[in-house]
Amino acid sequence: MDDIDCAAERVEAFNAVALQSVLSRMAGPASSGICQACGSAIEDERLQASPHARHCRECAADIEAETRRKNRCGPR
Ligand SMILES: [Zn+2]
Repeated sequence: MDDIDCAAERVEAFNAVALQSVLSRMAGPASSGICQACGSAIEDERLQASPHARHCRECAADIEAETRRKNRCGPR
C-alpha cells in the first residue's frame, strides 16, 4: 500500500509539472475565437474563462466526453 501511495504522489507531482509545461505550450497564441472542430465562433463567455480555447462549448463537451471514454480504464 505504501508503495502505491508513494507512486501516486510521484505521479501527481509529475503531472503538476507536465501540466505546467503543457499549459505554457498551449498558452502560445490566444484563441482565434473560431472553433477548430465546427468553425463557428467560440462563445465570448468561454473565451473569457479560457482565452486559449480552441473549441466551442459544444465541441469541447464532445471532445471531453470522448477523452473520458478513452481514459475510462486508464489512470485517473
Ligand atoms: Zn465547435
